[in-house]
Amino acid sequence: MGQFLPFYKQVFKNLFSKPATTQYPFKPKEYPERTRGHIEINKDQCILCGMCMRSCPPGAINVDRAGKTWTINRFDCIQCGYCAEKCPKKCLSIIPGYQEPGAEKFAETVEVPYEPPKPAAKPAAPAAQGNAAPAAQGNSAAPAAATAQGNGTAPAAAQANAAEKADSTSGD
Ligand code: SF4
Ligand code: SF4
Repeated sequence: MGQFLPFYKQVFKNLFSKPATTQYPFKPKEYPERTRGHIEINKDQCILCGMCMRSCPPGAINVDRAGKTWTINRFDCIQCGYCAEKCPKKCLSIIPGYQEPGAEKFAETVEVPYEPPKPAAKPAAPAAQGNAAPAAQGNSAAPAAATAQGNGTAPAAAQANAAEKADSTSGD
């Protein structure tokens, strides 16, 4: 009889205590702090830079910049949190709650409303300056001066000097 005493003690203890199991699905599961559940995106903050796609070890994310979509294959995600860490806009976060099991793999696609900034128009003023100044310098004034020096003025002065020397020599 003594050997059954611990057994009876456990039975009476369980009869008057709360069940160790939770009442799921009637009572929602409470996840512990820092649970790595699943990735969620704040699509309004996303700039489609693709950093999350490039940093995801199993390649679970695809960013289509032209199509403006962000796609995650949750069956490939290992909840490492690396994409959320690398996102420059901090629009990815790990939320408690796991991906539901499924018979087939599928990807979840989110349409991102990001509008890339339009390239600024080139300023017109610097272009006008760049055309006028070189044309004025290169076409008219400088070559004209060079022509005057090279063809007419300098030889005429040399001739005048030679005539003066000849006069002074003949005078002696
Ligand atoms: S979620 Fe973050 S890292 Fe990924 S494309 Fe958007 S802004 Fe870039
Ligand atoms: S948590 Fe890790 S595996 Fe999952 S999408 Fe982000 S980087 Fe990829």
